[in-house]
Order: sequence, then C-alpha cells, then structure tokens
Amino acid sequence: MTDAEHKIRLLMELRSQGITDTRVLAAIERIPRELFVPELFKPQAYENIALPIASGQTISQPYIVALMTEALELRERVKVLEIGTGSGYQAAILSGLARRVYTIDRHRTLVREAENLFAELRITNVTTRVGDGAKGWPEQAPFSRIIVTAAAPRVPEALVDQLAPDGILIIPVGREGEDQEVLRIRRRDDGFTEERLTPVRFVPLLPGVAEG
Ligand code: SAH
Repeated sequence: MTDAEHKIRLLMELRSQGITDTRVLAAIERIPRELFVPELFKPQAYENIALPIASGQTISQPYIVALMTEALELRERVKVLEIGTGSGYQAAILSGLARRVYTIDRHRTLVREAENLFAELRITNVTTRVGDGAKGWPEQAPFSRIIVTAAAPRVPEALVDQLAPDGILIIPVGREGEDQEVLRIRRRDDGFTEERLTPVRFVPLLPGVAEG
C-alpha cells in the first residue's frame, strides 16, 4: 500500500473509533505524519500507533492526537498552548485549526527539529520555546486552550492559572507506567469542571530543561 492508501485506511479507522469532527480529520489528512517520524519508522507512519522519536520520547498514536484535538473544541480562531512539542506533529495539526500555537519542550534538539519541519511545511503560526512547560508561558497568557502531551501526576497549577475564561485544558494525568487518564478541565465563571475522557499511556512530564 502507498502512504495515500495507508492514510485513507487510518482516517476510516479514526471515524470508526468515534472521531467525528471533520476539521480534525481533514487536518490529519493534510499533515504528512511521515515527516515527523524517524527514517526507520516511516513505513509505519500511517498506522494507528505511537512511535519512538529522538531523545527517548514518542509521537502519540493518531487516535489520541485526534481525540485530544477534538476535545479542545477549536471552533473559534483561538490561541493554544501545547506542552510537549516532541516531533511537532500535534502542533502542526493544531496550526491549521487555531489562530496561533505556542509550544514548549524541555529538549532543545526536539524543538530545533520541529522548527525545521514547520518551516518546510510553511507553517508560520507556531511559536516554540525550550523550557519547563509545567510553568506555562506567562508572557503569552491567558490561553483559550491548553493541551499537555506528557502525563503529570497532577494538574500543574500554573497551567490552570493561565487558562482564559471559558478556556479548556486537556491533560493526561497519572504516574508513569500506571493508569493514566486524559482529563478535560473547563474554566467557568464559578470555578472549574472536570471530565475524564479516556485511559492512555504517555511519557512523563519531567521537571526542568533536559541536557540534550
Ligand atoms: N506532542 C508530541 C508528543 C510529545 S511526547 C508530538 O506530537 O510528537 C512528550 C514530550 O513532552 C516529550 O518531547 C518531552 O520532552 C516533553 N516534556 C516532558 N516534560 C516536559 C516539561 N516539563 N516541559 C516541556 N516539555 C516536556
């Protein structure tokens, strides 16, 4: 099968798994996932699985990318913060559905490689930073939407603080190797609501900036 055929099969699978937002499906169709995976794994780029990337990290399973993107409810042209740039794939998906994407990773090499791919794909509305994403991005806050693509033992307070009124935060919560769940947290006038969306397995959100 060609990449195009694999992609059609993947999109059908995502639909059958319950992804209905056509804008999300169109974004997955548009962004070439094969550019975001290492050479060795390119033949599997359109399989519905997570794959290893540099620095011991992973690019998430397409189903989880689709589910978390759909859960962000990117109907307006909003400002989004992503914690965990990784390969840059999730940020590239968000770039077509949001006005501006701010993305942070603690690995400088991953951020550099992602920046190169954004340039290659002529994606101009993504801004990157090397840093500890648990602290958010105070200079750019508040954000209408925040997505965390690494699992935290609990929700970092700084991220909740940087959420705009009616904002949505999507975050996997749980310890490494144990049960984790994606939560959707909404900021309301009178506080916060929390929904549990799906069980997942993510790499951990680690403190501070990494060496490489
Ligand atoms: N969204 C990525 C996948 C991310 S994997 C993609 O589409 O490919 C999780 C990423 O979170 C890793 O790259 C890891 O370096 C990063 N990470 C872990 N803890 C972090 C922290 N405190 N701040 C910023 N990034 C962090």
